[in-house]
Order: sequence, then structure tokens, then C-alpha cells
Amino acid sequence: MFHVKQFTNITDYKFQTADSKNRKDKIMKIVAISNQKGGVGKTTTAVNLASLLAFYGKRALLVDIDPQGNATSGFGIDKIAVKGTIYDVLLDKTPVKEVIVKSGVNLLDIIPANINLIGAEVELVTVLSRETLLKKALAGLGNAYDYILIDCPPSLGLLTVNALTAAHSVLIPIQCEYYALEGLSSLMNTLDLIRGNLNPSLEVEGVLLTMYDSRVGLARQVADEINKFFKEKVYKVVIPRNVRLAESPGFGKPIILYDCHSRGAKAYEELSEEFLKRNAEVFKFPVALSSRKEIALIAAGALPARTDKEN
Ligand code: ATP
Ligand code: MG
Repeated sequence: MFHVKQFTNITDYKFQTADSKNRKDKIMKIVAISNQKGGVGKTTTAVNLASLLAFYGKRALLVDIDPQGNATSGFGIDKIAVKGTIYDVLLDKTPVKEVIVKSGVNLLDIIPANINLIGAEVELVTVLSRETLLKKALAGLGNAYDYILIDCPPSLGLLTVNALTAAHSVLIPIQCEYYALEGLSSLMNTLDLIRGNLNPSLEVEGVLLTMYDSRVGLARQVADEINKFFKEKVYKVVIPRNVRLAESPGFGKPIILYDCHSRGAKAYEELSEEFLKRNAEVFKFPVALSSRKEIALIAAGALPARTDKEN
């Protein structure tokens, strides 16, 4: 275990080469990041957890399935200029592999989304098995990734149903505030419905407390309630309210490239370690010097984000 604060500058960050290319037997894991409540930290968690999984040498794909396209723009990707989005995939206009773009973080790819996706719910009304479109599309990727994270919109509509049907598990970020628990029963009901009809083995990957402010007594109470309810499913790490986390999307960078010394970076780093441990992953840190240099240069703006396919 190590912490961001131990590093002095971005070049200290040791991005790895894929450590799992030889583990052909290992099946990729798909995790939906979902909570129908808006603004609870879904996208922040998706962007930063995906970046850190890649940092740890996991081949990662982030699927943006929210018409707001915040995960897409969080990496500085122009939502409108992209060649294709998840919308084109769901509507069977473009094969999934053709819409994948590089994120600028080594080993992390993205399937972008934009406002077109708003039309999908209506356009898909007459399509058969419309709940399983994403699942089928991601199956087309074979074993190309170790982890696929899906950033869900703040609703329990068809897009979220597609994500929960495609996923092995759901990670639920919860903001520590008064109304935090209110919508959770509808999310739990939705999970039960999905398990009953579309995806019997869907698990809760974990529950993440976000935007925690220890100075606010209420935050502690809400955290206690959530711990009582979800027990060991709650991650030990709590994401603090941290202004650097809020700033980083404006610069089109995950927190580890924006400010690797911030409390937010450290918290998401701890989350990724907990996440990997829960998934029985073993850590190792051989450093790929070329990627390390490259990431530093990208972070410094001296290199454009990678567009080639090699890692
Ligand atoms: P939506 O439901 O609209 O998709 P969301 O659940 O994806 O929202 P985010 O977009 O991740 O939530 O976060 C909402 C806002 O709060 C954003 O402006 C984000 O930058 C900010 N934010 C997220 N996490 C933190 C944090 N730990 N500290 C400070 N600001 C944060
Ligand atoms: Mg979001």
C-alpha cells in the first residue's frame, strides 16, 4: 500500500504496462456505477476509479451511458466531435469496437456518450430485448479488458436497466446528506427486479460514501445509517469533499493527472486498492518507464492524448 502524498511530482506516478495480458482465463468484470439520485459522485467515481485501475495495470474501459456525457468530457474528449458514441452502438448503427477512444490515461479506453442518447429510450421502444442491448454489445469485446465500468445516468430508466443487465455488479455512491437514504429503496427494488428477470447474478459490488465533510454532524449520522444498512458492503475509505475533485473535470483530467497530491486523489487511490482487494487481485509494481514518461508529458500538455491502440 502506498499513498499519493509520498510522491513529489507527477513523474513519480508509476503507470504500469498491462499485467494481465497473459491471464487469458480471467474473465473481464463489468461494474455499473449507479444511483438514481443526481449529483452524488457517480461520474467522479467512474472517471477516477477507472483511471486508477488502469494505473494499477488493469486494462480498463469506461462506458459513458449518460446523455450528459460528463465522463466523456471529464477526459477532455469533445462529446460532439467524436466519431461515434454508445448511442450508435445501442441502435446497432456502429460496431462497439469502432466507437472506443483513448482516454489519455495509459490502459484506459472510453466509449463516449452525448446528448443524442436522450432519444434512445424512445427510439428503442419497439426494439425486441431492448434491455439486453448493452450486454450483447459488450460481449463483442471478448476478453479485451479486465474491468469495464459503466457510468449510469441519474434515473432508473432503460439506459440504467441496460447497464444493470450487462453488469456483474453495481457500485453505489451515496452522498452523505439528509436525503441520501430516501431513494435507496427504489434502487434496491430495481436491483431485485433486474435479478428476477434479466440478470439473476447481479451483485452489489460496494457502497461508497462520497463528499463527506467530517465537520458536519449530519454527515456522520448518515454514514452510520448507511453502515448499519449495507454493513460490510460499505467501503472503508470515505471520499471527502475536496475542491480539487470538483475542479479536475474542467481541465479534462482525472484527479491523479490533475493533482496527484490532493486528498481526493489519495481517497480514490485507496478506493481502487480496496476494490482490487475485494476482487482478489494481487498488486505488483514493475514500472514501465516509457508509460511513466509519457503520462508525465501528457499531464504537462507536452504530448497529445494517445490515439494509437498499443499500450
Ligand atoms: P449526475 O447524477 O448528474 O450524473 P453524478 O452522480 O455523476 O451526477 P458527479 O458529477 O460525479 O455526480 O458530481 C456532482 C458534482 O459534485 C460535480 O460538480 C463534481 O465535480 C462534484 N463532486 C463530486 N465528488 C466530489 C467531492 N468528493 N468533492 C467535491 N466535489 C465533488
Ligand atoms: Mg454523472
